Parts: sequence; C-alpha cells; structure tokens
Amino acid sequence: DHRPRRRGSHPHGIDDVAKDENTIRGNLSDNPQERFIDLPLPENQIMATYVWIDGTGERLRYKDRTLDYIPLKPKGKFTLMMENWDKKVMETMLSKITYTKSAMYLPPYDYYPRNLENFFQAECKLRPKRNINVFDENLKDLPIISYDGFGTQQAIQTDSDLYLCPRAIYRNPFRNGNHLLVMCDTYDKNLDPTPTNHRVKCADAYKKCHEDEPWFGIEQEYFFLNKSDSRPLGWPKGGFPRRSDQYYCGIGSDKFAGRDIVLAHYRCCLFAGIPVYGTNAEIGPSQWEYQVGPSVGLHAGDDVWMARFVMEMLASEYGVQVTWDPKPFEAWEGSGAHTNFSTKQMRAENGIEHIEKAIYKLRNVHEKHIEAYDPHGGKDNERRLIGTHQTERICTFSAGVAERFCSIRIPRIVAEQKRGFFEDRRPASNVDPYRAIDALMRTCLLNEY
Ligand code: ADP
Ligand code: MN
Ligand code: MN
Ligand code: MN
Ligand code: MN
Repeated sequence: DHRPRRRGSHPHGIDDVAKDENTIRGNLSDNPQERFIDLPLPENQIMATYVWIDGTGERLRYKDRTLDYIPLKPKGKFTLMMENWDKKVMETMLSKITYTKSAMYLPPYDYYPRNLENFFQAECKLRPKRNINVFDENLKDLPIISYDGFGTQQAIQTDSDLYLCPRAIYRNPFRNGNHLLVMCDTYDKNLDPTPTNHRVKCADAYKKCHEDEPWFGIEQEYFFLNKSDSRPLGWPKGGFPRRSDQYYCGIGSDKFAGRDIVLAHYRCCLFAGIPVYGTNAEIGPSQWEYQVGPSVGLHAGDDVWMARFVMEMLASEYGVQVTWDPKPFEAWEGSGAHTNFSTKQMRAENGIEHIEKAIYKLRNVHEKHIEAYDPHGGKDNERRLIGTHQTERICTFSAGVAERFCSIRIPRIVAEQKRGFFEDRRPASNVDPYRAIDALMRTCLLNEY
C-alpha cells in the first residue's frame, strides 16, 4: 500500500479534522483573512512565527510569539536592535552577522551552537557585573523560547520542556507588515541538540569548510493530494491518470493541477527572502517541483525547510494536502530532492577536476550517504531508487554526463565548460537537507565521512 502515511484514522475512530471547506473557513466568508490582515497593530509590535522540525525529522511545527521591537526593518533591510547590550558586546556580535540575500543569521547561536550558555557567559565577561540569563526574554534579540516536546514526539510527558533557538529569519508572506518567519533548531534541558536536530552537525561541517564556499541548490519535488481522499489532485476517483509524456512542464488544464498554489508559493518565497531558482510541473500530473538556491553552506538547509513550511501553509489555505513522500504511488515517478553542489574551486576554470575528485570520494561512501538521504536510514529511498523512472538502483553508485539513470549527474553544460557543479540525485523528497549537505561537505571537502 503506497498511500501516504498521513492517511488513516485516529485510534479513537475520529477522522482527520477540518476536512470540508466550511469547517476550514469557519463559515465566515470566501476570504476571511482579508478582513483582518490590515488591522493596525501597536507600534513596534510584530508577530514572529517560530518554525522547527519535530521528532519525526520530517514534519514541521510552529508557534507564534509577539515581539515588542522590530528586528526586521522595512524594505527588506535587516537590522538587529540590541539596546540592552553594551557597545563592545554589540560590536562583537555585529561583526559576526552574515548578511545574505535571504536572511540574517544570528551570530551567538550560529557560532556556538552546542554551548549557548558558555557563549553568553564568555560575552558577559566583558561586563562582569551584570549576569545575563540566556533565556532572558528582554534581550533585544530574538528570544530563545520553550515548547512542549511531548506534543511533538521529542520528549517524555513528565519532562517535556524543550528550547527553540532562532537561526534564520525571513519575512512572513502571510501577514502584512514586518512580521517574521523564524527557522529554529531544538535543544533539550541540558542545551544538547535533540535527536532530530541535524543542524548542529551541519553547522559544524560548514564552519570547517566555509572557505571553500560550498553552494547548494535543492530541487524539491512533491505531489498535491485531495484532503478528502488523499489521492492526487485531479486524478480520476479510485484510478490512475492516462500515462502521457505531456505532463512534464506541460500546459493545458488537463495536464496539471494545483498551479495556483505553485504560483503563490513562488511569489511568497521570493517575498520571504527564500531564494527560489525556479519551478516546473513534473512527470506525474499533480507532481511539481521548485528549486531552492543556490544557497551558501548551512543556510541551504534553512532555506529548504522554510520553503516547505511556506508550501504547507499555502496548501492548507487552499484546502489541499502536500505529500513529501518519495514514492507515494508504486507505478508512478517518485519525488526526489536532487542536491546540486559546487565549491569555489569547482566553479573556477577547469573546476571539472575538482568535481571528478568529489565524485571519486562519494563512490567509496555510497551506503553512508544513502543512510542520510531520507529520514528512515534508506528505507524510504528503497521504494524510490529502483532503477526505473530516472533513478539508479539504491545499491549501485554511478555517475554520468547528462544522464538521469545514475546517482550523480554532471550537467551537459558543466561538462562542456569544464566548470560548474554536479547533481546528487539520491536524496529523497523528504530528506532533511541539513543531513544531505552535511554528508556532502564531510565527504567531498573534509574527508571525514
Ligand atoms: P534539472 O535539470 O536537474 O532539473 P533544475 O534546473 O531543476 O535542474 O535545478 C538546477 C539546480 O541547480 C537549482 O536548484 C540551482 O539552485 C542549482 N545550481 C545552479 N548553479 C549551481 C551551482 N553553481 N552550485 C550549486 N547549485 C547550483
Ligand atoms: Mn501552553
Ligand atoms: Mn529539476
Ligand atoms: Mn525534477
Ligand atoms: Mn534534477
């Protein structure tokens, strides 16, 4: 049975909530949000949406928090307001901020991910008289906040407080104003990363190889499903669509379903500051793709997760489900998250030599990569990487130019120009991108995978 796992009934016999349009809409009007979205808020108050990965390692959660200052100024310029910090601390912090097109990365957390408390204590030495509590929410920075890890499959019931640590901020496309989306990672009571927090390891790898300027571009494939029966949008009831070579990048109302959401997602991501490279309709009807990147190092992971969050939010607004399952239907193309990778050296003249070296290294650690390329240690990809539908078999490693039945593809243009990037076709659509790019950096750049 290859129906997405989310289907199925509640143990007590209650089915999924809010299935029909009226329940979703609350019977208000066609577009209830429009009536409230422009209501003015008290000056300097903004809503921050904290987003994190739950205990499954593949689902996202969020909670909102009101801030009484604006870390994000209008016109997309990011600034930090840190009035409570003395000048020296502020300078140290500001010097560590990396600005990118997409987001501002908050330095204290990114630079000292494993040891937040020590970092703050170290900084406090600069002004020993005042003891700053890491969890002091009056810090004019994005606060670390707590949540109930029992409700997210991350903690036992009797000891469930976990911490959310802000990592990257984006503009919130669902709210007018300076409101934020905040990508977070998760920590237990000892400030150790939770088991599904793969960002910490990835941050460590990126820190060690950032001078190689690794870039990642991830192609995210997925299907839209009806909420009512969890079958793909537009597919015949209980059956399958006719096989056709007309769907991929196709036009015509019989060739695709869900384009409104695709267009909205594209625009929302660009507004948010997520670098979407492009989108296209995929080989199966109702299957689509968007590409994120190229993003630099670790931040590719933040961008990919936040793009998934935006898609989930939009799809639910339209009353549609998204499945990130890599093989929802046995007889149809699966969904991947092809990960395109380059370094400064690969992009430079004759960079093809560095690409070939990287592929040579990848060949030796194929199994380790397969383990990291889906959230179930390779089990999901067992259904997808079967040597058909433009995939290589899971047990085989192969590389080729302009060829799509292999593990690694060198795009034709890269082979011709002898410089550029390569594509790792193995990661599944539900991969944790932090794990995939961590594996690539460690194997190809750090020789330690
Ligand atoms: P495909 O032909 O495999 O479908 P796409 O056009 O869908 O390719 O995706 C190309 C991907 O390559 C995008 O995600 C883009 O961000 C990424 N990319 C482009 N240039 C680079 C580069 N120099 N380094 C890493 N990724 C890159
Ligand atoms: Mn509560
Ligand atoms: Mn593609
Ligand atoms: Mn594709
Ligand atoms: Mn591809």
